[in-house]
Amino acid sequence: MKYAGIIVDISHEKLDRTFQYSIPAELEEQVEIGSKVEILFNRRKITGYVVELSDDALIEPTKIKPIEGVVSDSVRMDSGMIKLAYWIKHNYGSTIINALKTVMPVKDKVKQDSRRTISLLISEKEAADIAMECDKKHKTAQARLLRTLCENPVTEYSLVMGKLNISASTVKSLEEKGYIEINSYEVFRNSINAGRMEKKNVELNSEQRFVTESIIEEIENNDNTPCLIKGVTGSGKTEVYMELISHVLAKGREVIVLIPEIALTYQTVMRFYSRFGDVVSIINSRLSKGEKYDRFRMAAEGRLKIMIGPRSALFTPFNNLGLIIIDEEHEGAYQSENAPRYHARETAIEIASMCGGKVILGSATPSLESYYRAKKGEYHLYRLNERAGNASLPDVDIVDLRDELRKGNRTVFSDRLSELIRDRLEKKEQIMLFLNRRGLKGFINCRSCGTVIKCPHCDVSLTEHSNNRLICHYCGYETSFGRVCPECGSKHIGTFKAGTQEVEKQTEQLFPGARVLRMDRDSTSGKDGHAAILEKFANGEADILIGTQMIVKGHDFSNVTLVGVLLADTSLHSQDYRASEVTFDILTQAAGRAGRGEKSGNVVIQTYDPESSCIRHAANQDFDSFYNEEIQYRQLLGYPPVKHMMSLRIACEDEALLTSSANILKEISDVEDNMQVIGPANATIYRINDIYYRMIYYKCSDNSVLVSVKDRIEKYIQENNMKNIKVLFDFR
Ligand code: ADP
Ligand code: ZN
Ligand code: ZN
Repeated sequence: MKYAGIIVDISHEKLDRTFQYSIPAELEEQVEIGSKVEILFNRRKITGYVVELSDDALIEPTKIKPIEGVVSDSVRMDSGMIKLAYWIKHNYGSTIINALKTVMPVKDKVKQDSRRTISLLISEKEAADIAMECDKKHKTAQARLLRTLCENPVTEYSLVMGKLNISASTVKSLEEKGYIEINSYEVFRNSINAGRMEKKNVELNSEQRFVTESIIEEIENNDNTPCLIKGVTGSGKTEVYMELISHVLAKGREVIVLIPEIALTYQTVMRFYSRFGDVVSIINSRLSKGEKYDRFRMAAEGRLKIMIGPRSALFTPFNNLGLIIIDEEHEGAYQSENAPRYHARETAIEIASMCGGKVILGSATPSLESYYRAKKGEYHLYRLNERAGNASLPDVDIVDLRDELRKGNRTVFSDRLSELIRDRLEKKEQIMLFLNRRGLKGFINCRSCGTVIKCPHCDVSLTEHSNNRLICHYCGYETSFGRVCPECGSKHIGTFKAGTQEVEKQTEQLFPGARVLRMDRDSTSGKDGHAAILEKFANGEADILIGTQMIVKGHDFSNVTLVGVLLADTSLHSQDYRASEVTFDILTQAAGRAGRGEKSGNVVIQTYDPESSCIRHAANQDFDSFYNEEIQYRQLLGYPPVKHMMSLRIACEDEALLTSSANILKEISDVEDNMQVIGPANATIYRINDIYYRMIYYKCSDNSVLVSVKDRIEKYIQENNMKNIKVLFDFR
């Protein structure tokens, strides 16, 4: 008798282990590691995944129930993916079933547009004889398929898989023996429109060549140390990626390119497509299940070689993956919002080490984590300091908004910005106006002197709550809000409010005749709203593009010669220790949009805080100075990357129970000498849909200590059956 260790498809701490079932003889050929099967569990029929096979029963064999059946329209996982799921569970905290689902973005086969048939290649007599042989060897599935084909020498593939309950591997083994063949008349949904491709042959400049050749040499020497390419915006990182991809493809290996979803534009994809043709595919969150399924299947069958996409593209089932590129590696979107909160960067490095591949990280503004590791030698660091081609970096003005208020200017445009907008409208050049919405909610600032009210303990901004209370969402500190500025006594203090629609209205009033496009969550509904607006702008159908974060990521418009950042500081005051880093990134990216073509560009950054070193360094595109200052601050306060941090978010419908549970969890987890524990405190958004949230933060220089604390908490919750609370771990 054979037995299978099965993970049941119910996410619950108590069920977070394998359960053993026996494999009935008639299913023996179909049940493999990774199969999705039906089982009886507490007298209910549910599904689960086979993660191990064994000849030994763990308990009295008569007490082990049999597997009921194999789910035929499911996607099988390979053992590498299962190993990866366990790694993710261990490092980020979640149930194993959730980790399995994470590494399997497409869980079920989706009805295809295609028609596939199976044809018998041998005579019916031969087939019948072989079927008899199969019977003797208990290969019942093979026998069943052969007998079906005796009756219908050409049979629909979907029928075989569905009604006859025969697995793909059974079909494959008969195909390999030369008894049958599979024919397809498929219409693949890999629908990149190759219509308007423009092939641009660039010759790498010396910086690009040096980086490319050095990394190729590392690959040739089987040196799998991750590489970080720090290249200013427009320095030609993408060209370097494509050279590396060529090299890896030539060795018969495959490539995954991660790009933040928001930057995954038609333009970017077309660059890859025009160079590599139809072995390139993309996945994104807007694809249908069927489209995703087809693309993953084509990857598994070796018909695709390059998969471009956001985070989940990491789990493309390639057979011989050789390279993972993570562009804009600093992007927050590379970390999953839901459990398990895996980070694409670390996960990519784990995948690469499993398959002997290389990871390349690229950014103009690397995450502090990556730069820190690169400086310590954990990653190899390469630089591209010059803009490629003839483009030069733009001129940047920093405008003090307090002066504008003093001058009586109450519009969102400073005089300097208005002047430059008029100039560009006259020259028929394009303008991007960027409204930084990050952290726009909540923080209190003084429009006269620029003061922002911060927590005296944590250096993050306080948030306004009802009853004039100001609260720190990090440590729970509370104070009352007097409605006047504590520094200058001005009454112009409060929560900052401005939206893209307001900016659009003012733009139309001040610059009548200018053609304006607006891009934000509201204006981009519909499948391709986002792309359509960008394409209009690229085609010169508008003079001014107004937008949020969405417009600053990776778009390359050669006629844009002015970028206005309407209010730089919002993100600087979010309730997060990474506020400066986020602001620096956004400003550098925004500034990087100007002057990407032959014409030089201008950038205007409007702020209440012109002395902020973060804003000054961004204006100078001076990452290293920013890094050196910021890393000292992290060092001082023990924030990542200098120390590791784990945050624990506890959710509960009952406020009192939440408070007591959070206190208990803190008590049982605060047991390590070299670890600092902060909280519990209310989460930034304390209540959502009548569920309350509290946070506990753990800081330690050793990540494995934090992982063990996570294990301790998970175990405690399971053993004490704390089923009214839900926890979410986050590692940094
Ligand atoms: P990044 O990814 O670093 O922002 P890109 O690879 O998008 O930079 O390059 C910016 C622009 O410069 C693109 O239009 C690209 O075609 C062009 N470019 C890149 N490398 C070269 C080169 N060696 N010679 C001429 N143009 C180049
Ligand atoms: Zn003030
Ligand atoms: Zn605080």
